[in-house]
Amino acid sequence: MKKWSLPLGKIFGIEIKIHFTFFLFFIFLTLSGIKDLGIKKGISSAFLILSVFICVLLHEISHSLVGIKYGGKVKNIILLPIGGIAQMEKIPTNPFSELKMAIAGPLTNFILAGILYLIFYPKVVFGKEDFVSQLTTVNVILGTFNLLPAFPMDGGRILRGLLGIKKGYYFATKIAIKVGKIFSIGLILFGLYFHLWLVFIGIFVFIGAISEENIFKAHFALFGLKASQIMVEDFKRIPPENSLLSLFNMSIKSSYEVFVIEKETIYGIIKKKDIPSFLDKFPLNSTVYEICNKNFIVVSPETEVDKFLSHILIGKISWVAVVENGYLKGVIYPESISDAITLIGIYKKRNFL
Ligand code: ZN
Repeated sequence: MKKWSLPLGKIFGIEIKIHFTFFLFFIFLTLSGIKDLGIKKGISSAFLILSVFICVLLHEISHSLVGIKYGGKVKNIILLPIGGIAQMEKIPTNPFSELKMAIAGPLTNFILAGILYLIFYPKVVFGKEDFVSQLTTVNVILGTFNLLPAFPMDGGRILRGLLGIKKGYYFATKIAIKVGKIFSIGLILFGLYFHLWLVFIGIFVFIGAISEENIFKAHFALFGLKASQIMVEDFKRIPPENSLLSLFNMSIKSSYEVFVIEKETIYGIIKKKDIPSFLDKFPLNSTVYEICNKNFIVVSPETEVDKFLSHILIGKISWVAVVENGYLKGVIYPESISDAITLIGIYKKRNFL
């Protein structure tokens, strides 16, 4: 999503971005508005869309500010045609903090609707087609719609917060994700009958629920573990000057999944499964140094997995080098993490639940 977004600037230190599909959506709606309603009404409808997205932005900013207040970290806010997303690097796990953070968004829309209603009273009439009435109505709809308990939408987060107060974070997340999936499927079915837009949102929420579920499973399985407990120790060390051809020959004869490019210093890794695509892309005499994956961080064997897990899961880093006294002891990468999650998840379920 990052690559297709245009940075707009920063508000309260939070980067605001617009996704390119938003521009397409905006141009499409404006042009079809002008075609159907004439230039004057078309432009005023474009102005309405822009105003709605400013309200969406304010909604996301309010989540972010409350999140930051309770120790969360906001990476950026991205505006998409179906709404905004505040991408959080760290979300507060305390149920009361999550509740306040989730409520802040819809509350902002209700407050905006209230302000518009009071300023333009008695001009605002719900269902009327003038600019202020429509903007007020949209804010009421946005606030209400976001309160649906479809995790990871705000209503779903409120549900998790409420459940979390009594039952704890893990149980609450499990239930919230289940309810979220059911609601998103409901939204898709409902949308098929009433409006295609709801289908898009339903699919988006469903994907969101699944990705939250994967992150949740990962944290559940690997919570409290140290890097040394999940690192892969059987890897092959290769000097950086070796060629792609020699690596290819070696990979045929060995059962290693990972080759670490190393000579006094760690340079990067190459995974066995990526070698065929490298053969397509690079000349055979390229050095392994040139093609290896250098996007890694170094941790000690004692580092808790939770410290870097999210970074790997969201793709911020590609792998982790576990180093002790300058010596590489093991590597951790997405595939090794998903193996560990499956194995340890099953073990924990059998023994603790
Ligand atoms: Zn929200």
